[in-house]
Amino acid sequence: MNSRPCLILFGPPGSGKGTQAKLLRQALGMAHISTGDMLRERVASGDQLGQAVAGIMQSGGLVPDELVNRMVDDRIAQPDAANGFILDGYPRTVAQARLLDCVLRTQHIRAVVVHLKVDYNVIIARLSGRRQCPNCGALYSLSPNSPAVSEVCDYDGSKLIVRDDDREEVVVQRLKAYDSQTAPVLEFLRGAGYPCYDVQGEGRPPQAIAREIEELIGKEFASGSGQA
Ligand code: AMP
Repeated sequence: MNSRPCLILFGPPGSGKGTQAKLLRQALGMAHISTGDMLRERVASGDQLGQAVAGIMQSGGLVPDELVNRMVDDRIAQPDAANGFILDGYPRTVAQARLLDCVLRTQHIRAVVVHLKVDYNVIIARLSGRRQCPNCGALYSLSPNSPAVSEVCDYDGSKLIVRDDDREEVVVQRLKAYDSQTAPVLEFLRGAGYPCYDVQGEGRPPQAIAREIEELIGKEFASGSGQA
């Protein structure tokens, strides 16, 4: 029986899901699956799908479920996800969560949900202060991940930009989409029997948050009580 673990990182945009996934993937030996990153790659490639979703992403809306579901289904079948995977930014609607629930049950994958809690005022300040390298995609904030030279990428020297969907008016739209479409997903997952933990996502270094998550899921997967 396949009992690879799945960590669902849940929380509003800017709650630190991507940062935590990057810190945890090495520690836990799990693949990092970010639907936002996958979609941005498609937009950057300019293919048909990328062109179709670019406008939706720029306005802070959600891309259609069927499209995202198909992407995730393909992605978790890749060899690097064989030892487990971290979902970052998925599921974002109850329809996505239903499909995921089905996939997890069919494939006997055990999942734990970690909900990163962050105040919306902190999120707006975080995202509108965020910068990205247009070349390699590295993300920076004013603190604690500011670049060595102001507004310049540490890795390749490119001038940093504000990501289109990090503009304040778009952040507000993304938070509205979270409230109306994504927040109910947590109740769905809880109701479906997945262990769900609230973790404070602000006021301490990302490494301290990652340690708490590691302990939680270590306990869950060791005890054998994660949903299978
Ligand atoms: P993120 O980087 O996770 O904040 O995602 C950036 C944007 O990609 C979102 O604002 C959505 O437009 C789109 N997106 C990412 N993940 C999903 C998803 N699971 N369902 C629908 N749209 C998504």
